[in-house]
Amino acid sequence: MHSHLPLSEDDRLKDMLNRNKEWAKFIQEEQPQFFSTSAKGQSPKVLWIGCSDSRVPAEQVVQCAPGDLFVHRNIANMCIHTDMNFLSVLQYSVDVLKVEHIVVCGHYGCGGVTAAAENKFHGLIDSWLCNIKDVYRANRENLEAVEDPIARTDLLVELNVSNSVYNICHSSIVQSAWEHKQPLSVHGWCYSLEDGLIRELGLVISNQEQVEKVYKMAVMNKTVSTKASEKSI
Ligand SMILES: [Zn+2]
Repeated sequence: MHSHLPLSEDDRLKDMLNRNKEWAKFIQEEQPQFFSTSAKGQSPKVLWIGCSDSRVPAEQVVQCAPGDLFVHRNIANMCIHTDMNFLSVLQYSVDVLKVEHIVVCGHYGCGGVTAAAENKFHGLIDSWLCNIKDVYRANRENLEAVEDPIARTDLLVELNVSNSVYNICHSSIVQSAWEHKQPLSVHGWCYSLEDGLIRELGLVISNQEQVEKVYKMAVMNKTVSTKASEKSI
């Protein structure tokens, strides 16, 4: 691992580009077929949804190589039904790449989750964080029963991961995959900045039977009926 010596801001990006050259040279020497294989295409088995936090780099914390993970990261690893970016990543990875696992990996000490539990003004991001406030409101009694503020935030971090897992499972994309017997499971994990370890939250959903009734959709085929809309136009 490289040491991180203090750099002037002008040198920082030059240093990154130099490191890239060193890395490419190293890989070329160690695995001469790596780049030619990589250029042919990808077939990752896992979609990783994590926080944008610089301290939780997806590939690094699970020792995966380029090509192993399809990755989506945003502030506080949220999966929101109206977020076209998230939905596009989900649809492409499930329908086209046919990933077999979706991992939502939150992390304790998440600044986004902490900010959501506070009453400060942060600007535009408050609208994004409102989704976590909704999770707080839905679990207020359980959260406020925890006296230690750090433990309470940790619980909110876990509940926010669970909420993302459920939102993924409630999507027509995932339910359609299950309907078509595509092997796909959704997992909730949490990374600790304190020791670098990931804790499984005991939340694994791999079929429609595990989804609460109101969210179940009878997705029989991938062609959406347009009859209703045709009538209404
Ligand atoms: Zn975070």
